[in-house]
Amino acid sequence: MAKDYYKILGVDKNATPDEIKKAYRTQARKYHPDLHPGDDAAAEKFKEINEANEVLSDEKKRKNYDTYGDPNGGMGGFGGAGAGGFGGFEDIFGDIFGGFGGFGGRTRAQTKTKGEDITIELTLSFLDAAKGCRREISYNRNEQCSSCKGTGAKGGTAYKTCEKCGGTGQIQYTTSNGFFRSVNVRPCDECRGTGKKIIDACKECNGKGYTKSTTRFTVDIPAGADTGSYIRKAGYGEASKNGGPAGDLIIVMKVENSKIFRRKNFDLYVDVPISFTTAALGGKVKVPLIDETIEYTIPDGTQSGKIFFVRGKGIKTSRGTGDLYIVVTVEVPSRLSKEQRKLLEKFEEQTEYKQCPEMRRYKDNVETMYGEDPYSV
Ligand SMILES: [Zn+2]
Ligand SMILES: [Zn+2]
Repeated sequence: MAKDYYKILGVDKNATPDEIKKAYRTQARKYHPDLHPGDDAAAEKFKEINEANEVLSDEKKRKNYDTYGDPNGGMGGFGGAGAGGFGGFEDIFGDIFGGFGGFGGRTRAQTKTKGEDITIELTLSFLDAAKGCRREISYNRNEQCSSCKGTGAKGGTAYKTCEKCGGTGQIQYTTSNGFFRSVNVRPCDECRGTGKKIIDACKECNGKGYTKSTTRFTVDIPAGADTGSYIRKAGYGEASKNGGPAGDLIIVMKVENSKIFRRKNFDLYVDVPISFTTAALGGKVKVPLIDETIEYTIPDGTQSGKIFFVRGKGIKTSRGTGDLYIVVTVEVPSRLSKEQRKLLEKFEEQTEYKQCPEMRRYKDNVETMYGEDPYSV
C-alpha cells in the first residue's frame, strides 16, 4: 500500500507546488537528524518527508501518484518480464533504427534469476517483409511446470523453508584481499536461491520446476521489416531455474533478396533495362512496386545509368514511406540481322556530333592533345 505523501507533508491534495515546497521545508527542519541525534523514529520520519517531497515536487511523479497511487505509473504491479500478452511486443521499428542495442544488460542484484533469452531467426521473402505478414512461430523451450507452478514441489506446496539460508535464498560471504574485506551475497546453493527446500518432488517435472515443451503462436510482422530487425516477446524465453521470471523470445528477421528489387531502409531500387531505341526516342515502361505496377515515361535521349526518382513509391510503413529509384540501363542488341545492320549504318551516317556531346568532348580532347581523330580509324 502506497504511503499518503500529502498527509506526511501535512498538505491538502490540491496543494500548489509552492505550498508543497513550503511544507517540505517546515517538516524537514523539524525532523532533521542533526536536531534528533540517535532518534530512529525522527530519522525514519525525515526519510519519509524526503520521499514525499521527491514525488509531490515532480509534476509527472505526482500525477502518476494521484492517478495510480504509484509515482512510476500504473504498471507497478504487473510490469515485469513474463507479463506481456501479445501487447508485450517491442516496437519493431525501434530496432530497425536502433540496431541491436536492446540485447542483454538486465542483470539484477537478486537471487532469483531471469531465464535465458531464446533467439530464433525468421526468414521472410522480400515482399512479405516489405508488405508485412503474419507468421506462425513454433519452437521448443523450458516452460514453467503448470503442475507445481514452477516450485518443483508436488502440488506446488510440498516444500519447507531452506535451513541453510533461512528462507532468504541468499548466502552472505566475506572476501578479503589482505587490505580490504567485503561482504558479498550469492544465491544459496542448497535451494538454488529459492529459499525453499522440496520435501516431495513434483512428478511432472522431476522437481525441476520446468518442462520441455513446444510453444506456438502467431506473430504479426509489420511492413518494412529488414534483415537484423527483431521483435522481443517478454516472458517467452526459457523458464527461470529458480522461480524467477522467464526469459524473452527474440525473433530476428532475415529478409531474402528479390529478383526485382533492392532496398535501402524503406527506399526501393529497381534496375530497368531499356532498348537503345527507347533510350533514344523515349517511351513507356512498366515498373513494379510492392503491390502494383506503374507506367513510367522514359524521356528521349536517356543515357544508360540514369536514375529516375519517384517520391513516395517505396515501402509503406507506419513509420513513413520510402521512395522509388528507377535505375536505367540501356541494352545494346547483339546478333543483328543483315537488314538491321544496314539500317544502323544508315542511321550512323546521319548522326552528327552535336547529338552526342560526350563523344564530341572526347574527340576534341584527343585531337587537341594528339592531333588525331579517335573516331576516324
Ligand atoms: Zn512440476
Ligand atoms: Zn537456501
